[in-house]
Amino acid sequence: MSTNTTSAYSDFHLQFIAGEWQTGKDDSTNTNTNPYNGDTLVEIQQATKDQLNEAYDAATQAQEAWAKQTPAERAAVLYKVVNILDQRKEEIVDWLIKESGSTRIKAMVEFGATRAITLEAATFPNRVHGEIRPSNTPGKENFIYREPIGVVAVISPWNFPLHLTQRSIAPALALGNAVVLKPASDTPVTGGLLLAKVFEEAGLPKGLLNVVVGSGSEIGDAIVEHKAPSLVSFTGSTSVGKHIGELANGGEYIKQVALELGGNSPFVVLKDADIEQAVKAAAFGKFLHQGQICIAINRVIVEDEIYDDFVERFLAHVKTLNVGDPNKQDTAVGPIINEKQVKSLKEKIVKAQEEGAKMILSGEIEGQVVPPHIFTEVTREMDLSRNEVFGPLVGIIRAKDEDDALSIANDSMYGLSSAVFTADMQKGLRFARGIRAGMTHINDISVNDESNTPFGGEKNSGIGRFNGEWVLEEFTRTHWISMQNEPREYPF
Ligand code: NAD
Repeated sequence: MSTNTTSAYSDFHLQFIAGEWQTGKDDSTNTNTNPYNGDTLVEIQQATKDQLNEAYDAATQAQEAWAKQTPAERAAVLYKVVNILDQRKEEIVDWLIKESGSTRIKAMVEFGATRAITLEAATFPNRVHGEIRPSNTPGKENFIYREPIGVVAVISPWNFPLHLTQRSIAPALALGNAVVLKPASDTPVTGGLLLAKVFEEAGLPKGLLNVVVGSGSEIGDAIVEHKAPSLVSFTGSTSVGKHIGELANGGEYIKQVALELGGNSPFVVLKDADIEQAVKAAAFGKFLHQGQICIAINRVIVEDEIYDDFVERFLAHVKTLNVGDPNKQDTAVGPIINEKQVKSLKEKIVKAQEEGAKMILSGEIEGQVVPPHIFTEVTREMDLSRNEVFGPLVGIIRAKDEDDALSIANDSMYGLSSAVFTADMQKGLRFARGIRAGMTHINDISVNDESNTPFGGEKNSGIGRFNGEWVLEEFTRTHWISMQNEPREYPF
C-alpha cells in the first residue's frame, strides 16, 4: 500500500490481478490515446483468458473473508476512498480530460458523481437489512436475510468511465462482494486502473478488486460466461447488452444481470414554458460531453405555438458555445471519443439531410472535434429521432399540442430518461407520469443522477436500478430461512 499521496500514480501499463500489478500476457496491445490531440497516453499489453481466470480465482477466494468483516471495517475502506479521491482530485480530473476527452466542466461533474456514489456506498454495509415475516405454519418463524451475492463481473463504457465504473464497484464491494472489472478499451485508466490504485491505497484487501484490460475477442465473452460471477453488471450499448444478456442466461451457468443500456431521451417544451430557461437547459443537456451520455437529450420536442421562437433562441445560444480544447476552462464542446464515433456522426449528418431535415447550424469537423449541428423540420420517423445519436447533433421536432408531444416522446424503443418544461407543475407532473421511462425531470434536463435516487431505464434501455436502496437490493441476494420451533404435523 502506497503511503505517498502526493506523487501521481504510475504503472498504468499493467493489469491489476489478485492484488498485484502484472504485465498482460496477450500478444495484443491497447494503445490508449488522447482523443483531442492523438497523444499516446499509455500502451497496455492486454490480458489473456488465463489471467482472467486468475482474477476470478482471486476474487472468489478473497470474497468470503471480506463478507465476514464487520460493516464498520468495510465502510472504513470506502470512506478512505473518498478521502483519496479528494486528495487526488486534480490528478483524476486531468486523466478524465486527457483520456476520455471530457471538458473540464464535464470532468468536474463526473468527479462529483463518483465521489457521491462512493460516499453513499460507504453507508451500505450498515444499511443492508433483513426481515422477519409471519408464518401460517404453527411454530415457524421466517427470516429473510440479505447476503452478498459473491463475485460480480463489471463491464463499463467509456463515456463517464470513472463514475459508471464506480457506481457498480463501490456498492458491490461495500456489500461484501468481490469484483472482476473490464473497463472499456478507450478508457482503461479512468474506467478501471485509476480506481484500482485508489482502492489499493485505501487498503482494500488483495483480490477483491481485479481490473483486466483485454480485447473483446479474448476476454469479452469469457468474463460473462465464467462460472464465478453470480451477477454481471453491464453498462453500455443496447446491442452489446442484449448479447451479454443472452450469454449470461444461455450458457452453462445462469447469472443475474443488471443492464444499463442506451437511451433516446425526449426533452419536451410545452407552450407555457419559460423559453429562455428551456433553451439554456436544452443546450447543456444536449452538448455536455459532446452529447455522449446515455441520458443526454436526444430529441427536442417543442409545441407548435412556440416552436419558431424556441428554435431562434436556441440557435443563437448554441452559437455562443466554445468548441475545441477540453482542457480550457470555458470549452463547452470537446472531442469525440474515437474515429469510429466521428464517422458514425458524419453519416448521421448526411442521412438527416437526405431524410429532409433542415440543417440550421453546422461547422467544420477538425480531427475528432465535431461542432454542434442543429436540425429543424425533424419528424419522429427520421434516424435522428429513432436512434441514439451519441454526439453533438440535435433534431428539433414540432408537436401539434400536448397530447402530440407525449405521443412523440413515447414513440421510442428506449425508456431511460426524459424531461418536460412547463410553467404549470400539475400539468408537468401529469405529463411526466405519462412518459414510459425510468426517469423524468420537470423543468430540468434529462441528465440527472443522484446517488440516493433510482437510476435506470425500461424497454430497450435495460434492467435494474443503480443508487440508494435500489442498488443495495441489486448487489445482494435474498435468502429465506425458516425456523420450525416445535414439531410440525405432517399429513403422512
Ligand atoms: P459498448 O456497448 O460498445 O461497450 C460497453 C462495454 O462493453 C465496453 O467495456 C466494451 O469493451 C464491452 N464489450 C463490448 N463487447 C463485449 C462483449 N462481447 N463481451 C463483453 N464486453 C463487451 O458501449 P460504449 O460505446 O462503450 O458506450 C456507449 C453506450 O453505452 C451508449 O449506447 C450509451 O447509451 C450506453 N450507456 C448507458 C448508460 C446507462 O446507464 N444506461 C450509461 C452510459 C452509457
